[in-house]
Amino acid sequence: MKTQHIEDIIDMQDEVLEISEIEKIISEKEILKMYENKYSNKLYCLIMKSLTHEVYIKENIAKKTFQRIILHLNTLNKKLNRNVGLLVATLDYLQNIIKTLEEPKIIEEGKSDVLLQTSTIDELTTLYLRDIFDITITKRVSESNRSKSPVSLIMMDIDDFKVINDTFGHQRGDIVLKKLGEVLNLSIRQMDMAARYGGEEFAILMPDTTISTAIKIAQRLRQKIKNIDFKDFKITVSLGISQTNDEINTAEKLIEASDFYLYKAKANGKDRVESL
Ligand code: GH3
Ligand code: MG
Ligand code: MG
Repeated sequence: MKTQHIEDIIDMQDEVLEISEIEKIISEKEILKMYENKYSNKLYCLIMKSLTHEVYIKENIAKKTFQRIILHLNTLNKKLNRNVGLLVATLDYLQNIIKTLEEPKIIEEGKSDVLLQTSTIDELTTLYLRDIFDITITKRVSESNRSKSPVSLIMMDIDDFKVINDTFGHQRGDIVLKKLGEVLNLSIRQMDMAARYGGEEFAILMPDTTISTAIKIAQRLRQKIKNIDFKDFKITVSLGISQTNDEINTAEKLIEASDFYLYKAKANGKDRVESL
């Protein structure tokens, strides 16, 4: 490998592409051409670095890996019937497929697909797992710091869920969680991410979304959930919302802020939305 090439890559140092940029590169041929011209023989190294924070030295390996990730993204989208996004597909590919291939045992096609889903998606609610959420929110907040476009976060917790479990049994409680997963998946927009944050606590991450839009979404969600008829009972939820700004500029701070408003919603009598 030429030393110049390695130096070019080291030169890229802090340069990263936004996820949205990479998504455009995938979907529009003209844009791909433009980027190929601009970055000549290191475009895919740059893409992979932006996605994984790891340095890829060999352009052909970076390119091959990226192409496989795109294939994987399409497979996941079809399987789950929604756009999981490039970030999740990358993570899933690198964590599961590559790891799987390195293991000496042979895994059948069908089985590895099941493996894939169970490691990113919570089985009961079909929402994203906490781990995936944590990685995604970190990435989205750092993008938001660069672009100055706000990210909003809703934290939602079921009110008096313990009573439901105690009165009607844990299994009926599980049915509630499953139903809420369905409602969340149907209510959010393509670019949003809904995750099971804890036992009966949910997080909805909304890039490019101001708090006023997030409040409207949260109120609609609260009403929708309140209207669900579980035969013997109904439930309510409390929601806390916050948004990135000059002070709330890390994933931890954003989660902490939304959690604070969730706590406030509980303290103010539950079945309500509180926000920044
Ligand atoms: P609050 O309105 O203050 O949130 O009251 P709560 O009763 O909902 O809150 P608390 O934290 O006291 O209880 C949460 C309950 O959620 C306790 C736990 O048994 C239940 N839970 C957590 N995960 C699951 C689950 O996977 N299935 C079922 N059925 N229950 C769960
Ligand atoms: Mg709770
Ligand atoms: Mg609760």
